[in-house]
Amino acid sequence: MGKVNRQEILDILKGYDKENITIATLGSHTSLHILKGAKEEGFKTAVVCEKGREVPYKRFKVADEYIIVDKFSDIVNDDVQEKLRAMNSIVVPHGSFVAYAGLDRIENDFKVPMFGNRDILRWESERDLERKLMLESDIRIPMKYDDPSQIDRTVMVKFPGARGGRGYFVASSTEEYNQKIDSMLKRNWIEEEDIKNAHIEEYVSGCNYCIHYFYSALNDEVEVMGMDSRYESNIDGLCRIPAKDQLDVSMDPSYVITGNHPVVMRESLLPQVFDIGDNLVEGAKKLVAPGMSGPFCLQTLCTDDLEIIVFEMSARIDGGTNTFMDSSPYSYLLFGEFMSMGRRIAHEIKNGAEEDRLEILIT
Ligand code: AMP
Repeated sequence: MGKVNRQEILDILKGYDKENITIATLGSHTSLHILKGAKEEGFKTAVVCEKGREVPYKRFKVADEYIIVDKFSDIVNDDVQEKLRAMNSIVVPHGSFVAYAGLDRIENDFKVPMFGNRDILRWESERDLERKLMLESDIRIPMKYDDPSQIDRTVMVKFPGARGGRGYFVASSTEEYNQKIDSMLKRNWIEEEDIKNAHIEEYVSGCNYCIHYFYSALNDEVEVMGMDSRYESNIDGLCRIPAKDQLDVSMDPSYVITGNHPVVMRESLLPQVFDIGDNLVEGAKKLVAPGMSGPFCLQTLCTDDLEIIVFEMSARIDGGTNTFMDSSPYSYLLFGEFMSMGRRIAHEIKNGAEEDRLEILIT
């Protein structure tokens, strides 16, 4: 099976009634402000919703149309695609859409115009591709260890897949690594199979900033739209126990994301923030045509040397944008009040339609 053909998507777009575009997404993750933002920009909205999960969309009144499916992954079914095309839909991908639809089906079978570069989604999901993109973009990332026997300082150990940090651990020696692997196996937080895929990287001691950028392909400009930091269980709970008691309870930390806090950075750090965003956009242009487009997020740690180190990337709208469903201090600077990431996407689509340049925004 081949990849979805670009010409096919452009032909579908050509057949759309541009006065009547619907912005559609899967009902999860960041869909509330994607849909709300679309309405604010004057679009019709549709949500593909798993049966029984309609309540937030109905109660917050963000969706004009509902496509109810038995399970989220049905969004790639032919009949659902047909309904989306019939509504002149542009689908906005987010983390849950990628997880439920699956990369293969998005790349090979999903014949509905999508906002942004559908090919770059794989580059955030596969750690080796992600590292390649960061290195190409000259972005400082944590040092990687190829083998546990090389551990010579504190490291963070991660496992593949979007499991919200479950099973991650910190170790400072090969011995401690082996002990913790055993303990994670006993808890069933990892499986034997995961061990050979363990990713070991330098532990960065710093404060967490997840930076939400928007790259406007229409204006060729990188915008900083907002920042959040993660609220993770149980690590953030553990930190409330005095250090002495932390040793006594001998609990292992985990890093399961449960929520987000809005945050701002020292103003003197902002030049670095723009540099890394600009660099990533340049790197993506070289490696994954047509490059980055629309929202992306760099998850960083800022050290006490005031160096921003990127440990993860989202190549689409990130969940932390839910901290500014109305506005963030940074989006306020650029746009005035009420510019969420969802609305920024709709704004770009609206400008693309008005300028007759929609084809550069969709794949
Ligand atoms: P991730 O699944 O990569 O987003 O990581 C989950 C959490 O682990 C992050 O939000 C950080 O709190 C922490 N983390 C990830 N990588 C590192 C690292 N290299 N050094 C220190 N903490 C990290």
